[in-house]
Amino acid sequence: MAPKSDKTHSVAVIAGGIAGLATGLDIRDRARDAGLEVQVTIFEKDSEPGGNLQTIRQDGWQLEWGPNGFLDNEPATLRLVDRLDLRDKLQRSSDATAHRFLLVGGRIQEIPITPKAFLQSGMMSTAAKLRMAGELFVPPRKDLGRAAEDPATDETIDQFGARRLGQTFADVMLDPMVKGIFGGDSRRLSLAAAFPRMVELEKDYGGLFKAMIKLSRQRKKEGKSKTDAGPSGVLHSFTGGMATLIDAMVADLAADPVAEVRVNAEVRQISPTEDGWRVTTSDGDHGPFDAVVEAAPAHAAVRHLEHLDPIFANHLAAIPFAPMAVIALGFKREAVTHDLNGFGMLVPTREKRELLGALWTSSIFGGRAPEGRILLRCMAGGSANPGFMEQTDDEMAAVLLSELRPLFGLKGAPDMVKVIRHDRAIAQYVPGHLARLKELDRTTASYPGLFLTGSSYRGISVNACVKEAETIAVNVLKGLAEKHGHARTEAF
Ligand SMILES: Cc1cc2nc3c(=O)[nH]c(=O)nc-3n(C[C@H](O)[C@H](O)[C@H](O)COP(=O)(O)OP(=O)(O)OC[C@H]3O[C@@H](n4cnc5c(N)ncnc54)[C@H](O)[C@@H]3O)c2cc1C
Repeated sequence: MAPKSDKTHSVAVIAGGIAGLATGLDIRDRARDAGLEVQVTIFEKDSEPGGNLQTIRQDGWQLEWGPNGFLDNEPATLRLVDRLDLRDKLQRSSDATAHRFLLVGGRIQEIPITPKAFLQSGMMSTAAKLRMAGELFVPPRKDLGRAAEDPATDETIDQFGARRLGQTFADVMLDPMVKGIFGGDSRRLSLAAAFPRMVELEKDYGGLFKAMIKLSRQRKKEGKSKTDAGPSGVLHSFTGGMATLIDAMVADLAADPVAEVRVNAEVRQISPTEDGWRVTTSDGDHGPFDAVVEAAPAHAAVRHLEHLDPIFANHLAAIPFAPMAVIALGFKREAVTHDLNGFGMLVPTREKRELLGALWTSSIFGGRAPEGRILLRCMAGGSANPGFMEQTDDEMAAVLLSELRPLFGLKGAPDMVKVIRHDRAIAQYVPGHLARLKELDRTTASYPGLFLTGSSYRGISVNACVKEAETIAVNVLKGLAEKHGHARTEAF
Protein backbone atom coordinates (compact mmCIF):
# COMPACT_ATOMS: atom_id res chain seq x y z
CA MET A 1 0.00 0.00 0.00
CA ALA A 2 1.34 3.42 -0.98
CA PRO A 3 2.33 5.64 1.95
CA LYS A 4 -0.22 8.34 2.52
CA SER A 5 0.60 11.98 3.09
CA ASP A 6 0.08 13.67 6.45
CA LYS A 7 -3.61 14.33 6.60
CA THR A 8 -5.54 17.33 7.72
CA HIS A 9 -9.00 15.77 7.46
CA SER A 10 -10.15 12.21 6.91
CA VAL A 11 -13.31 10.77 5.42
CA ALA A 12 -14.42 7.13 5.39
CA VAL A 13 -16.75 5.92 2.66
CA ILE A 14 -18.53 2.67 3.39
CA ALA A 15 -18.91 0.49 0.28
CA GLY A 16 -17.25 0.60 -3.11
CA GLY A 17 -20.24 0.37 -5.43
CA ILE A 18 -20.78 3.16 -7.95
CA ALA A 19 -22.33 5.33 -5.21
CA GLY A 20 -19.40 4.98 -2.80
CA LEU A 21 -16.67 5.27 -5.42
CA ALA A 22 -18.23 8.30 -7.10
CA THR A 23 -18.68 10.00 -3.73
CA GLY A 24 -15.10 9.24 -2.66
CA LEU A 25 -13.73 10.53 -5.94
CA ASP A 26 -15.81 13.67 -5.80
CA ILE A 27 -14.77 14.47 -2.23
CA ARG A 28 -11.14 14.05 -3.22
CA ASP A 29 -11.45 16.25 -6.31
CA ARG A 30 -13.47 19.05 -4.74
CA ALA A 31 -11.22 19.14 -1.68
CA ARG A 32 -8.16 19.40 -3.89
CA ASP A 33 -9.72 22.15 -6.00
CA ALA A 34 -10.52 24.09 -2.82
CA GLY A 35 -7.02 23.58 -1.42
CA LEU A 36 -8.26 21.41 1.46
CA GLU A 37 -6.28 18.32 2.31
CA VAL A 38 -8.60 15.37 2.81
CA GLN A 39 -7.69 11.69 3.06
CA VAL A 40 -10.43 9.45 1.64
CA THR A 41 -10.66 5.77 2.60
CA ILE A 42 -13.25 3.54 0.90
CA PHE A 43 -14.10 0.26 2.65
CA GLU A 44 -15.43 -2.45 0.32
CA LYS A 45 -16.61 -5.86 1.50
CA ASP A 46 -15.82 -7.80 -1.68
CA SER A 47 -12.46 -8.54 -3.26
CA GLU A 48 -13.41 -6.35 -6.25
CA PRO A 49 -15.06 -2.93 -5.99
CA GLY A 50 -17.96 -1.95 -8.24
CA GLY A 51 -20.99 -3.62 -6.67
CA ASN A 52 -23.48 -4.23 -9.46
CA LEU A 53 -21.19 -2.76 -12.10
CA GLN A 54 -19.20 -5.77 -13.27
CA THR A 55 -18.52 -6.92 -16.79
CA ILE A 56 -17.93 -10.59 -17.53
CA ARG A 57 -15.88 -11.55 -20.59
CA GLN A 58 -15.85 -15.18 -21.68
CA ASP A 59 -15.19 -16.87 -25.04
CA GLY A 60 -15.90 -13.69 -27.02
CA TRP A 61 -19.09 -12.81 -25.10
CA GLN A 62 -19.29 -9.63 -23.01
CA LEU A 63 -21.98 -9.72 -20.35
CA GLU A 64 -23.08 -7.26 -17.71
CA TRP A 65 -23.62 -8.48 -14.17
CA GLY A 66 -25.88 -5.51 -13.39
CA PRO A 67 -26.64 -2.36 -15.36
CA ASN A 68 -26.59 -2.47 -19.10
CA GLY A 69 -25.73 1.21 -19.37
CA PHE A 70 -26.78 4.72 -18.42
CA LEU A 71 -28.76 7.46 -20.13
CA ASP A 72 -27.08 10.64 -21.36
CA ASN A 73 -29.88 12.87 -20.06
CA GLU A 74 -28.08 13.26 -16.71
CA PRO A 75 -24.87 15.27 -17.07
CA ALA A 76 -23.32 14.04 -13.80
CA THR A 77 -22.24 10.65 -15.22
CA LEU A 78 -20.88 12.31 -18.36
CA ARG A 79 -18.96 14.74 -16.13
CA LEU A 80 -17.47 11.72 -14.38
CA VAL A 81 -16.63 10.18 -17.76
CA ASP A 82 -14.79 13.37 -18.73
CA ARG A 83 -13.00 13.64 -15.42
CA LEU A 84 -11.70 10.10 -15.92
CA ASP A 85 -10.80 10.79 -19.56
CA LEU A 86 -13.08 7.99 -20.80
CA ARG A 87 -14.81 9.74 -23.72
CA ASP A 88 -12.99 7.62 -26.30
CA LYS A 89 -14.26 4.43 -24.62
CA LEU A 90 -17.86 5.63 -24.39
CA GLN A 91 -20.27 3.61 -26.54
CA ARG A 92 -23.58 4.98 -27.78
CA SER A 93 -26.41 2.49 -28.22
CA SER A 94 -27.45 1.75 -31.79
CA ASP A 95 -30.35 3.48 -33.54
CA ALA A 96 -32.24 0.17 -33.36
CA THR A 97 -32.96 0.96 -29.69
CA ALA A 98 -35.68 3.39 -30.81
CA HIS A 99 -37.78 0.26 -31.42
CA ARG A 100 -39.11 -1.14 -28.16
CA PHE A 101 -41.56 -3.98 -27.81
CA LEU A 102 -44.17 -5.41 -25.50
CA LEU A 103 -45.73 -8.82 -25.36
CA VAL A 104 -49.45 -8.17 -25.79
CA GLY A 105 -51.96 -10.94 -26.30
CA GLY A 106 -49.09 -13.42 -26.77
CA ARG A 107 -47.59 -11.40 -29.67
CA ILE A 108 -44.48 -9.20 -29.74
CA GLN A 109 -45.75 -5.73 -30.64
CA GLU A 110 -43.75 -2.54 -31.17
CA ILE A 111 -44.57 0.31 -28.78
CA PRO A 112 -45.73 3.29 -30.85
CA ILE A 113 -43.76 6.39 -29.90
CA THR A 114 -46.37 9.11 -30.43
CA PRO A 115 -49.77 9.30 -28.71
CA LYS A 116 -51.43 9.34 -32.15
CA ALA A 117 -49.63 6.17 -33.24
CA PHE A 118 -50.51 4.60 -29.91
CA LEU A 119 -54.19 5.34 -30.42
CA GLN A 120 -53.98 3.79 -33.91
CA SER A 121 -52.14 0.66 -32.72
CA GLY A 122 -53.64 -2.69 -31.77
CA MET A 123 -52.20 -2.61 -28.25
CA MET A 124 -55.45 -1.84 -26.46
CA SER A 125 -59.20 -1.96 -27.10
CA THR A 126 -61.00 1.10 -28.48
CA ALA A 127 -62.64 1.67 -25.11
CA ALA A 128 -59.24 1.60 -23.37
CA LYS A 129 -57.80 4.01 -25.95
CA LEU A 130 -60.70 6.42 -25.48
CA ARG A 131 -60.17 6.26 -21.73
CA MET A 132 -56.49 7.00 -22.32
CA ALA A 133 -57.29 9.99 -24.55
CA GLY A 134 -59.57 11.23 -21.78
CA GLU A 135 -56.43 11.96 -19.72
CA LEU A 136 -56.62 15.46 -21.14
CA PHE A 137 -59.78 16.04 -19.12
CA VAL A 138 -58.79 14.37 -15.83
CA PRO A 139 -58.24 17.17 -13.28
CA PRO A 140 -54.97 17.09 -11.33
CA ARG A 141 -55.06 15.87 -7.76
CA LYS A 142 -55.07 18.67 -5.22
CA ASP A 143 -52.63 17.02 -2.80
CA LEU A 144 -49.78 16.36 -5.25
CA GLY A 145 -46.23 16.72 -3.93
CA ARG A 146 -47.10 16.03 -0.28
CA ALA A 147 -46.03 12.38 -0.04
CA ALA A 148 -43.08 13.14 2.25
CA GLU A 149 -45.26 15.07 4.73
CA ASP A 150 -48.43 13.03 4.38
CA PRO A 151 -47.81 9.39 3.35
CA ALA A 152 -51.58 8.85 2.97
CA THR A 153 -51.34 10.91 -0.24
CA ASP A 154 -48.60 8.66 -1.65
CA GLU A 155 -50.11 6.98 -4.71
CA THR A 156 -48.80 3.77 -6.24
CA ILE A 157 -47.70 3.85 -9.87
CA ASP A 158 -50.65 1.62 -10.74
CA GLN A 159 -53.14 3.93 -8.97
CA PHE A 160 -51.70 6.93 -10.78
CA GLY A 161 -51.88 5.18 -14.17
CA ALA A 162 -55.43 3.97 -13.61
CA ARG A 163 -56.57 7.40 -12.41
CA ARG A 164 -55.09 9.37 -15.28
CA LEU A 165 -54.97 6.95 -18.22
CA GLY A 166 -57.17 4.01 -17.29
CA GLN A 167 -56.52 0.56 -15.80
CA THR A 168 -55.75 -1.05 -19.17
CA PHE A 169 -52.97 1.47 -19.84
CA ALA A 170 -51.60 0.85 -16.35
CA ASP A 171 -51.63 -2.92 -16.95
CA VAL A 172 -50.23 -2.88 -20.49
CA MET A 173 -47.67 -0.07 -20.26
CA LEU A 174 -46.79 0.84 -16.67
CA ASP A 175 -46.72 -2.64 -15.15
CA PRO A 176 -44.01 -3.94 -17.56
CA MET A 177 -42.04 -0.67 -17.43
CA VAL A 178 -41.79 -0.94 -13.64
CA LYS A 179 -40.66 -4.55 -13.95
CA GLY A 180 -38.03 -3.51 -16.47
CA ILE A 181 -36.61 -0.69 -14.35
CA PHE A 182 -37.11 -1.85 -10.75
CA GLY A 183 -37.80 -5.56 -11.08
CA GLY A 184 -40.79 -4.23 -9.18
CA ASP A 185 -44.56 -4.29 -8.97
CA SER A 186 -46.40 -1.13 -10.05
CA ARG A 187 -49.05 -1.93 -7.45
CA ARG A 188 -46.47 -1.73 -4.68
CA LEU A 189 -44.25 1.20 -5.67
CA SER A 190 -44.68 4.87 -4.84
CA LEU A 191 -45.02 7.13 -7.87
CA ALA A 192 -43.62 10.11 -5.97
CA ALA A 193 -40.49 8.21 -4.92
CA ALA A 194 -39.91 6.15 -8.06
CA PHE A 195 -40.95 8.66 -10.73
CA PRO A 196 -41.03 12.11 -9.10
CA ARG A 197 -41.07 13.74 -12.55
CA MET A 198 -44.57 12.36 -13.18
CA VAL A 199 -45.85 14.09 -10.06
CA GLU A 200 -44.19 17.33 -11.16
CA LEU A 201 -45.73 17.12 -14.63
CA GLU A 202 -49.22 16.65 -13.24
CA LYS A 203 -48.69 19.40 -10.71
CA ASP A 204 -47.11 21.92 -13.07
CA TYR A 205 -49.11 21.28 -16.25
CA GLY A 206 -52.34 19.71 -15.01
CA GLY A 207 -51.79 16.36 -16.74
CA LEU A 208 -49.42 14.28 -18.85
CA PHE A 209 -50.78 15.07 -22.30
CA LYS A 210 -50.99 18.75 -21.42
CA ALA A 211 -47.35 18.56 -20.29
CA MET A 212 -46.29 16.78 -23.50
CA ILE A 213 -48.00 19.38 -25.67
CA LYS A 214 -46.58 22.35 -23.79
CA LEU A 215 -43.08 20.90 -23.52
CA SER A 216 -42.98 19.95 -27.19
CA ARG A 217 -44.06 23.51 -28.15
CA GLN A 218 -41.33 24.84 -25.87
CA ARG A 219 -38.71 22.57 -27.47
CA LYS A 220 -39.76 23.72 -30.94
CA LYS A 221 -39.54 27.34 -29.85
CA GLU A 222 -36.03 26.71 -28.53
CA GLY A 223 -35.12 25.17 -31.90
CA LYS A 224 -34.45 21.70 -30.45
CA SER A 225 -35.04 18.75 -32.77
CA LYS A 226 -36.59 15.43 -31.75
CA THR A 227 -33.18 13.78 -32.08
CA ASP A 228 -31.51 15.97 -29.44
CA ALA A 229 -31.01 14.00 -26.22
CA GLY A 230 -34.56 14.56 -25.04
CA PRO A 231 -36.00 13.96 -21.60
CA SER A 232 -35.58 10.21 -21.90
CA GLY A 233 -31.96 10.35 -23.18
CA VAL A 234 -29.86 7.90 -25.16
CA LEU A 235 -28.43 4.75 -23.55
CA HIS A 236 -24.64 4.64 -23.30
CA SER A 237 -22.06 2.17 -22.06
CA PHE A 238 -18.36 1.63 -22.80
CA THR A 239 -16.75 -0.59 -25.42
CA GLY A 240 -15.34 -2.63 -22.55
CA GLY A 241 -18.65 -2.60 -20.66
CA MET A 242 -19.72 -0.86 -17.47
CA ALA A 243 -16.69 -2.16 -15.54
CA THR A 244 -14.67 0.40 -17.51
CA LEU A 245 -16.11 3.13 -15.30
CA ILE A 246 -15.28 1.27 -12.10
CA ASP A 247 -11.77 0.29 -13.23
CA ALA A 248 -10.99 3.91 -14.11
CA MET A 249 -12.29 5.22 -10.78
CA VAL A 250 -10.35 2.63 -8.80
CA ALA A 251 -7.14 3.23 -10.79
CA ASP A 252 -7.47 6.98 -10.32
CA LEU A 253 -7.97 6.65 -6.56
CA ALA A 254 -5.26 4.02 -6.16
CA ALA A 255 -2.70 6.29 -7.83
CA ASP A 256 -3.43 9.09 -5.37
CA PRO A 257 -1.61 9.32 -2.03
CA VAL A 258 -4.68 10.91 -0.41
CA ALA A 259 -7.06 8.10 -1.39
CA GLU A 260 -7.35 4.42 -0.66
CA VAL A 261 -9.78 1.68 -1.70
CA ARG A 262 -9.60 -1.12 0.86
CA VAL A 263 -11.09 -4.36 -0.46
CA ASN A 264 -12.07 -7.44 1.58
CA ALA A 265 -13.00 -4.92 4.27
CA GLU A 266 -16.49 -5.73 5.45
CA VAL A 267 -17.78 -2.98 7.68
CA ARG A 268 -19.57 -4.16 10.81
CA GLN A 269 -20.33 -0.94 12.63
CA ILE A 270 -19.70 2.77 12.56
CA SER A 271 -19.73 4.75 15.80
CA PRO A 272 -19.19 8.32 16.87
CA THR A 273 -16.32 8.81 19.32
CA GLU A 274 -14.93 11.86 21.10
CA ASP A 275 -12.51 12.62 18.30
CA GLY A 276 -14.55 11.62 15.24
CA TRP A 277 -15.98 8.42 13.74
CA ARG A 278 -14.73 4.87 14.21
CA VAL A 279 -15.26 2.27 11.49
CA THR A 280 -15.18 -1.32 12.67
CA THR A 281 -14.43 -3.88 9.95
CA SER A 282 -13.73 -7.59 9.87
CA ASP A 283 -10.06 -6.80 10.62
CA GLY A 284 -10.49 -4.31 13.45
CA ASP A 285 -11.14 -0.65 14.21
CA HIS A 286 -10.20 2.21 11.89
CA GLY A 287 -10.22 5.95 12.40
CA PRO A 288 -10.93 8.37 13.83
CA PHE A 289 -12.49 9.90 10.71
CA ASP A 290 -13.89 13.41 10.55
CA ALA A 291 -16.82 12.20 8.47
CA VAL A 292 -18.38 8.93 7.32
CA VAL A 293 -20.41 8.41 4.16
CA GLU A 294 -22.55 5.28 4.45
CA ALA A 295 -23.01 4.13 0.82
CA ALA A 296 -23.82 0.44 1.36
CA PRO A 297 -27.35 -0.71 0.47
CA ALA A 298 -29.91 -0.10 3.23
CA HIS A 299 -30.02 -3.81 4.15
CA ALA A 300 -26.30 -3.64 4.99
CA ALA A 301 -26.29 -0.07 6.32
CA VAL A 302 -28.83 -1.05 8.97
CA ARG A 303 -26.29 -3.32 10.62
CA HIS A 304 -23.74 -0.49 10.77
CA LEU A 305 -26.12 2.09 12.23
CA GLU A 306 -28.91 0.33 14.14
CA HIS A 307 -27.10 0.66 17.48
CA LEU A 308 -27.22 4.47 17.16
CA ASP A 309 -30.93 5.11 16.82
CA PRO A 310 -34.18 3.13 16.46
CA ILE A 311 -35.01 5.25 13.39
CA PHE A 312 -32.02 3.71 11.60
CA ALA A 313 -32.90 0.25 12.89
CA ASN A 314 -36.53 0.44 11.77
CA HIS A 315 -36.45 2.52 8.62
CA LEU A 316 -33.35 1.08 6.96
CA ALA A 317 -34.54 -2.47 7.62
CA ALA A 318 -37.96 -1.63 6.16
CA ILE A 319 -36.67 -0.78 2.67
CA PRO A 320 -37.40 -3.92 0.65
CA PHE A 321 -35.26 -5.25 -2.21
CA ALA A 322 -36.45 -7.22 -5.23
CA PRO A 323 -34.60 -10.40 -6.12
CA MET A 324 -33.80 -10.84 -9.79
CA ALA A 325 -32.18 -13.39 -12.06
CA VAL A 326 -30.40 -12.23 -15.20
CA ILE A 327 -30.15 -15.05 -17.70
CA ALA A 328 -27.90 -14.38 -20.67
CA LEU A 329 -28.52 -16.58 -23.69
CA GLY A 330 -26.27 -16.69 -26.76
CA PHE A 331 -27.31 -18.17 -30.10
CA LYS A 332 -25.97 -18.50 -33.61
CA ARG A 333 -27.69 -15.83 -35.73
CA GLU A 334 -29.23 -18.42 -38.01
CA ALA A 335 -30.83 -20.18 -35.02
CA VAL A 336 -33.06 -17.14 -34.39
CA THR A 337 -35.92 -16.34 -36.77
CA HIS A 338 -36.80 -12.93 -35.28
CA ASP A 339 -34.84 -9.99 -36.74
CA LEU A 340 -34.12 -8.58 -33.23
CA ASN A 341 -34.08 -5.09 -34.68
CA GLY A 342 -34.73 -3.20 -31.49
CA PHE A 343 -33.95 -2.69 -27.83
CA GLY A 344 -35.93 -5.52 -26.36
CA MET A 345 -39.28 -6.63 -25.07
CA LEU A 346 -41.10 -6.29 -21.75
CA VAL A 347 -43.83 -8.60 -20.54
CA PRO A 348 -46.93 -7.33 -18.70
CA THR A 349 -48.06 -9.41 -15.71
CA ARG A 350 -51.33 -10.21 -17.40
CA GLU A 351 -49.45 -12.24 -20.04
CA LYS A 352 -48.74 -14.74 -17.22
CA ARG A 353 -45.12 -15.53 -18.09
CA GLU A 354 -42.06 -16.09 -15.95
CA LEU A 355 -40.05 -13.75 -18.20
CA LEU A 356 -40.09 -10.11 -17.04
CA GLY A 357 -38.35 -8.91 -20.15
CA ALA A 358 -35.53 -9.57 -22.59
CA LEU A 359 -32.98 -7.10 -23.91
CA TRP A 360 -31.57 -7.78 -27.36
CA THR A 361 -28.12 -6.91 -26.13
CA SER A 362 -26.18 -7.60 -29.32
CA SER A 363 -28.56 -5.26 -31.20
CA ILE A 364 -28.02 -2.49 -28.62
CA PHE A 365 -24.22 -2.44 -28.40
CA GLY A 366 -21.61 -3.85 -30.74
CA GLY A 367 -18.96 -6.19 -29.36
CA ARG A 368 -21.23 -8.10 -26.96
CA ALA A 369 -21.31 -11.38 -28.92
CA PRO A 370 -18.79 -13.23 -31.08
CA GLU A 371 -19.09 -12.84 -34.86
CA GLY A 372 -22.27 -14.44 -36.21
CA ARG A 373 -23.88 -14.78 -32.76
CA ILE A 374 -26.62 -12.87 -30.94
CA LEU A 375 -26.98 -12.20 -27.22
CA LEU A 376 -30.27 -12.00 -25.31
CA ARG A 377 -30.38 -10.78 -21.72
CA CYS A 378 -33.47 -12.03 -19.95
CA MET A 379 -34.79 -10.98 -16.55
CA ALA A 380 -36.99 -13.03 -14.27
CA GLY A 381 -38.06 -13.08 -10.63
CA GLY A 382 -38.63 -9.59 -9.33
CA SER A 383 -40.64 -8.54 -6.28
CA ALA A 384 -43.84 -10.12 -7.63
CA ASN A 385 -42.27 -13.52 -8.28
CA PRO A 386 -39.52 -14.22 -5.71
CA GLY A 387 -40.22 -17.96 -5.93
CA PHE A 388 -38.50 -18.02 -9.33
CA MET A 389 -35.17 -17.67 -7.51
CA GLU A 390 -35.63 -21.03 -5.76
CA GLN A 391 -34.90 -22.94 -8.97
CA THR A 392 -31.52 -24.20 -10.10
CA ASP A 393 -29.70 -22.39 -12.90
CA ASP A 394 -30.62 -25.14 -15.36
CA GLU A 395 -34.28 -24.97 -14.39
CA MET A 396 -34.36 -21.19 -14.78
CA ALA A 397 -32.80 -21.35 -18.23
CA ALA A 398 -35.13 -24.15 -19.32
CA VAL A 399 -38.27 -22.26 -18.22
CA LEU A 400 -37.22 -19.10 -20.04
CA LEU A 401 -36.17 -20.98 -23.17
CA SER A 402 -39.57 -22.66 -23.33
CA GLU A 403 -41.21 -19.20 -23.28
CA LEU A 404 -38.76 -17.61 -25.71
CA ARG A 405 -38.62 -20.36 -28.36
CA PRO A 406 -42.00 -19.72 -30.00
CA LEU A 407 -41.70 -15.93 -29.66
CA PHE A 408 -38.32 -15.57 -31.33
CA GLY A 409 -38.29 -18.73 -33.41
CA LEU A 410 -35.28 -20.15 -31.55
CA LYS A 411 -33.85 -23.36 -32.99
CA GLY A 412 -31.66 -25.81 -31.10
CA ALA A 413 -29.76 -25.32 -27.88
CA PRO A 414 -28.13 -21.99 -27.01
CA ASP A 415 -24.37 -21.63 -27.59
CA MET A 416 -23.97 -19.89 -24.26
CA VAL A 417 -26.02 -19.74 -21.05
CA LYS A 418 -25.05 -17.67 -18.03
CA VAL A 419 -27.27 -17.25 -14.99
CA ILE A 420 -26.56 -14.31 -12.67
CA ARG A 421 -28.42 -14.24 -9.37
CA HIS A 422 -29.17 -11.01 -7.54
CA ASP A 423 -30.79 -11.97 -4.26
CA ARG A 424 -31.32 -8.30 -3.43
CA ALA A 425 -31.09 -6.63 -6.80
CA ILE A 426 -32.88 -3.32 -6.54
CA ALA A 427 -34.36 -1.26 -3.68
CA GLN A 428 -38.14 -0.94 -3.86
CA TYR A 429 -39.48 2.52 -3.12
CA VAL A 430 -42.78 1.47 -1.59
CA PRO A 431 -45.50 3.96 -0.52
CA GLY A 432 -44.20 5.87 2.48
CA HIS A 433 -40.64 5.88 1.12
CA LEU A 434 -40.38 9.69 0.99
CA ALA A 435 -41.73 10.03 4.53
CA ARG A 436 -39.18 7.39 5.58
CA LEU A 437 -36.38 9.39 3.93
CA LYS A 438 -37.48 12.47 5.82
CA GLU A 439 -37.12 10.65 9.12
CA LEU A 440 -33.78 9.18 8.06
CA ASP A 441 -32.51 12.60 6.97
CA ARG A 442 -33.55 14.16 10.25
CA THR A 443 -31.84 11.43 12.24
CA THR A 444 -28.70 11.47 10.09
CA ALA A 445 -28.45 15.26 10.50
CA SER A 446 -28.42 14.81 14.28
CA TYR A 447 -25.08 13.00 13.90
CA PRO A 448 -22.63 15.62 12.55
CA GLY A 449 -20.26 14.08 10.03
CA LEU A 450 -22.60 11.23 9.04
CA PHE A 451 -24.07 10.99 5.52
CA LEU A 452 -26.27 8.38 3.82
CA THR A 453 -26.23 7.77 0.08
CA GLY A 454 -26.68 5.09 -2.57
CA SER A 455 -29.42 3.54 -4.64
CA SER A 456 -31.57 2.61 -1.64
CA TYR A 457 -32.84 6.15 -1.22
CA ARG A 458 -33.22 8.75 -3.99
CA GLY A 459 -32.91 6.96 -7.29
CA ILE A 460 -31.85 3.51 -8.31
CA SER A 461 -30.03 4.34 -11.54
CA VAL A 462 -26.32 4.74 -12.05
CA ASN A 463 -27.07 8.36 -12.99
CA ALA A 464 -28.95 8.97 -9.74
CA CYS A 465 -26.06 7.55 -7.67
CA VAL A 466 -23.46 9.65 -9.49
CA LYS A 467 -25.56 12.79 -9.30
CA GLU A 468 -26.14 12.38 -5.58
CA ALA A 469 -22.40 11.75 -5.08
CA GLU A 470 -21.79 15.37 -6.10
CA THR A 471 -24.30 16.71 -3.56
CA ILE A 472 -22.97 14.52 -0.76
CA ALA A 473 -19.37 15.51 -1.52
CA VAL A 474 -20.26 19.19 -1.25
CA ASN A 475 -22.08 18.60 2.04
CA VAL A 476 -19.21 16.56 3.49
CA LEU A 477 -16.69 19.25 2.65
CA LYS A 478 -18.89 22.05 3.96
CA GLY A 479 -19.22 20.09 7.19
CA LEU A 480 -15.45 19.65 7.44
CA ALA A 481 -14.80 23.29 6.67
CA GLU A 482 -17.31 24.46 9.29
CA LYS A 483 -16.03 22.05 11.91
CA HIS A 484 -12.44 23.19 11.41
CA GLY A 485 -13.23 26.88 11.01
CA HIS A 486 -12.30 27.28 7.33
CA ALA A 487 -13.93 30.41 6.05
CA ARG A 488 -14.57 29.59 2.38
CA THR A 489 -17.31 26.93 2.47
CA GLU A 490 -18.71 28.32 -0.80
CA ALA A 491 -15.54 27.00 -2.52
CA PHE A 492 -17.21 23.58 -2.81
C1 LIG B 1 -29.75 -6.63 -12.83
C2 LIG B 1 -29.67 -5.15 -12.69
C3 LIG B 1 -29.80 -4.35 -13.81
C4 LIG B 1 -29.71 -2.97 -13.69
N1 LIG B 1 -29.78 -2.20 -14.82
C5 LIG B 1 -29.56 -0.87 -14.73
C6 LIG B 1 -29.40 -0.07 -15.91
O1 LIG B 1 -29.45 -0.58 -17.03
N2 LIG B 1 -29.16 1.26 -15.75
C7 LIG B 1 -29.03 1.84 -14.52
O2 LIG B 1 -28.80 3.05 -14.44
N3 LIG B 1 -29.15 1.10 -13.39
C8 LIG B 1 -29.40 -0.21 -13.46
N4 LIG B 1 -29.46 -0.98 -12.33
C9 LIG B 1 -29.36 -0.31 -11.04
C10 LIG B 1 -27.91 0.02 -10.67
O3 LIG B 1 -27.05 -0.98 -11.08
C11 LIG B 1 -27.75 0.12 -9.19
O4 LIG B 1 -28.74 0.87 -8.62
C12 LIG B 1 -26.41 0.71 -8.79
O5 LIG B 1 -25.39 -0.09 -9.30
C13 LIG B 1 -26.39 0.79 -7.29
O6 LIG B 1 -25.15 1.22 -6.85
P1 LIG B 1 -24.83 1.26 -5.30
O7 LIG B 1 -23.45 1.73 -5.16
O8 LIG B 1 -25.90 1.99 -4.60
O9 LIG B 1 -25.01 -0.24 -4.78
P2 LIG B 1 -24.29 -1.60 -5.19
O10 LIG B 1 -23.93 -1.63 -6.62
O11 LIG B 1 -25.18 -2.67 -4.67
O12 LIG B 1 -22.95 -1.57 -4.36
C14 LIG B 1 -22.97 -1.71 -2.98
C15 LIG B 1 -21.59 -2.11 -2.53
O13 LIG B 1 -21.64 -2.20 -1.11
C16 LIG B 1 -20.78 -3.23 -0.72
N5 LIG B 1 -21.10 -3.60 0.67
C17 LIG B 1 -22.24 -4.18 1.13
N6 LIG B 1 -22.15 -4.36 2.46
C18 LIG B 1 -20.95 -3.87 2.84
C19 LIG B 1 -20.28 -3.78 4.09
N7 LIG B 1 -20.85 -4.23 5.21
N8 LIG B 1 -19.04 -3.24 4.12
C20 LIG B 1 -18.45 -2.77 2.99
N9 LIG B 1 -19.03 -2.86 1.78
C21 LIG B 1 -20.27 -3.38 1.70
C22 LIG B 1 -21.08 -4.31 -1.74
O14 LIG B 1 -20.10 -5.32 -1.76
C23 LIG B 1 -21.13 -3.48 -3.01
O15 LIG B 1 -19.88 -3.36 -3.62
C24 LIG B 1 -29.53 -2.37 -12.42
C25 LIG B 1 -29.41 -3.18 -11.29
C26 LIG B 1 -29.46 -4.55 -11.41
C27 LIG B 1 -29.29 -5.40 -10.20
